[in-house]
Amino acid sequence: MRAVRYMSVGEKPRVTDVEVPEPGPGQLLLKVTAAGLCHSDLAVMSWPADGFPYELPMTLGHEGAGRVESVGPGVSRVSVGESVVVYGPWGCGVCRMCAQGRENYCPHAARLGVFPPGLGSQGALAEYVLIDSERHVVPIGDLDPVQTVPLTDAGLTPYHAIKRSLDRLVAGSVTVVIGVGGLGHIAVQLLRRLSAATVVALDVREESLELARRSGAQHTLPSDESALEAVRDLSRGLGAAAVFDFVGAAATTALARRMVGQDGDLALVGIGGGTVEVGFESVPFGSRTGITYWGTRSELIELIDLARQGVLDVHVERYGIESGPEAYERMEAGLVKGRAVVVP
Ligand code: NAD
Ligand code: ZN
Repeated sequence: MRAVRYMSVGEKPRVTDVEVPEPGPGQLLLKVTAAGLCHSDLAVMSWPADGFPYELPMTLGHEGAGRVESVGPGVSRVSVGESVVVYGPWGCGVCRMCAQGRENYCPHAARLGVFPPGLGSQGALAEYVLIDSERHVVPIGDLDPVQTVPLTDAGLTPYHAIKRSLDRLVAGSVTVVIGVGGLGHIAVQLLRRLSAATVVALDVREESLELARRSGAQHTLPSDESALEAVRDLSRGLGAAAVFDFVGAAATTALARRMVGQDGDLALVGIGGGTVEVGFESVPFGSRTGITYWGTRSELIELIDLARQGVLDVHVERYGIESGPEAYERMEAGLVKGRAVVVP
């Protein structure tokens, strides 16, 4: 089969031939119907060889959708032919976090050699992908896999971050989304759907701000100092009740910290290398600063049910598998609008 692979540290991703894997006990093989590209893949491919955590070559792609092609012994809850999406942050399956479906916060997975597809295990940017357990798939029925696959990360990650802050997002409050790409444009839609807060979106690209408006943002602003005053005014001096930083660079974390109000939430989601110092004089009283990672199994099920209501409009750019590397180049150049999805 053809697969988009990261062959060795520092190399550009390439499309090569790989053997179709066989599902072992408890595993299932999916014929991939769609696979999303994430900015995190670019982060992984920028890491140095020293301390690189994954075995290479590795097929990329941690957002996957597919039809069940075959199952290994012991798989009984999914049927061959079923259309599913993949829950990516695989945990050990038995600790207290995993028991709650919060496999994204399983502290044991990496030590046990359990890695998400495309982030340590062989990923979904291929004709077939092997899934470790039937608990990692969510049936999507008639939903279009191309529109739905970004929900497994670009949707799930903001959904998880937003749910933690919903109690703060009352009518009259202001929430800020920084970076309106794959994750950010779904975040804007989720905030409009799940909360009564006024949504302000910040980006450095006009096309992204246009996507933010299409996604329901009431205010769109260039991501710079001028946004501080706007957020202050819109919130009648209170500051943002929650800021979601989907860039996480030094420039945006600095802005986010100054925008968040007292008792507000600052969620750092982007892995752009920025930091926020937390101390009595450096963040507002009562505020909570945190990083969030992906989302829980139950949240993915909830999100797919939300998609079934027809209320999400995920913007995708489609690519064939041979164009996977080109799609990554476009993402790196800031040219992708919404999510790039490979349809093998
Ligand atoms: P993307 O490339 O699709 O979108 C990034 C957006 O940010 C673009 O619209 C871009 O114009 C904008 N941007 C860039 N610099 C900016 C700046 N200084 N100010 C404002 N906007 C700016 O990226 P994505 O796939 O949506 O991923 C977003 C981030 O989230 C990445 O850092 C990614 O690695 C990270 N991520 C984190 C998790 C997690 O679990 N924490 C999960 C998935 C992705
Ligand atoms: Zn991702």
